[in-house]
Amino acid sequence: MVLNAKKDLIGLSREELREELSSLGEKPFRVKQLWQWIYNKGETDFAKMSSLPAATRDKLSEGYQVSRPQIVKEQTSVDRTRKWLLGFADGEKVESVYIPEEDRGAVCISTQVGCAVGCKFCHTGSQKFMRNLSAGEIVSQFMVARDSYGEWPTPAGEPRYLSNIVLMGMGEPLLNFANVSKALKIIMDEEGICMSRRRITLSTAGIAPKIPQVASEIGVKLAISLHASNNEVRNQIMPINRKYPLEEVISACREFRRLAGPRQHITFEYLMLDGINDKDSHAKELISLVAGIGAKFNLIPFNEWPGCPYKSSPPERVKHFSSILQKAGFAAPVRVARGQDILAACGQLKSKFSV
Ligand code: SAH
Ligand code: SF4
Repeated sequence: MVLNAKKDLIGLSREELREELSSLGEKPFRVKQLWQWIYNKGETDFAKMSSLPAATRDKLSEGYQVSRPQIVKEQTSVDRTRKWLLGFADGEKVESVYIPEEDRGAVCISTQVGCAVGCKFCHTGSQKFMRNLSAGEIVSQFMVARDSYGEWPTPAGEPRYLSNIVLMGMGEPLLNFANVSKALKIIMDEEGICMSRRRITLSTAGIAPKIPQVASEIGVKLAISLHASNNEVRNQIMPINRKYPLEEVISACREFRRLAGPRQHITFEYLMLDGINDKDSHAKELISLVAGIGAKFNLIPFNEWPGCPYKSSPPERVKHFSSILQKAGFAAPVRVARGQDILAACGQLKSKFSV
């Protein structure tokens, strides 16, 4: 433990920042200035925050810091996907990924070190759960990505290279709800990072009681890692289904939709596992399961990892499965895996080592 470590301002809400400043005898209007330096301009050095009086800057640098996690390793794939292994103050590590498109791209963020949910197909789930990430540790992953691409200050309009955020890295966001919610409020703040809630997607393995709160307390888009059309198959590959079976997940989705509004779609992620969940009968079950909740599917070829127990369905099977869903009126694109050469694709992230 480091004694007398300076307190980090990243991850404090505006109210908490106001309290810190008032403890230094500073006026409330300084909050807005400091917030803009930290989250709109990406400044980490108090000395360069020129709109603040010198005395304020001195006081801040005495007791506080605006830091980033340590970049332990950075790798860029042949397809330009970039992955960072980030180290936090206590030595724990997570991975974050940037997936570029032509003139935009998504940053994939982790919410926990490891994951306790233990889905059988997931590399993260095969490792021990260590701890939740703090709000600051969640926000700072996005800030590292912006540093890396020099996208400061926050661009006023389009294009933005870092245009979207997906909470699809390591961990289950709804088992770290308070910190995830606080982090996303900081990320959405219009005077800072200013990411629209429509460009943020939270993905969950189906922690049913928390799903409606994504609409009522955060307001971002929802993706459900469904991966099976009935409880029998889902119990096999996702042990969490014994606690929150499909009926409960689906009824929580209906409640989400009631709160979020009828125009809000829910994306159902569906991993294609050879011989497990990829039969025509599964596609038909899926169609009746999600009827009436504005569902879109995202079919995901399984990304293999060392020692994994499954194989991906062959491409013709995935295409056929997609066509059954499409004929029933659902969008069902097949996700193209990105960054596989650096193990940056979905379900491949881990904290212990990096290739
Ligand atoms: N815990 C959350 C978010 C992180 S996982 C969740 O489960 O939704 C992000 C996505 O990657 C999930 O849809 C997950 O099911 C998927 N995934 C996990 N392992 C995978 C693998 N080996 N190949 C492809 N996708 C995988
Ligand atoms: Fe955890 Fe999601 Fe991986 Fe399941 S798929 S083990 S919930 S990170």
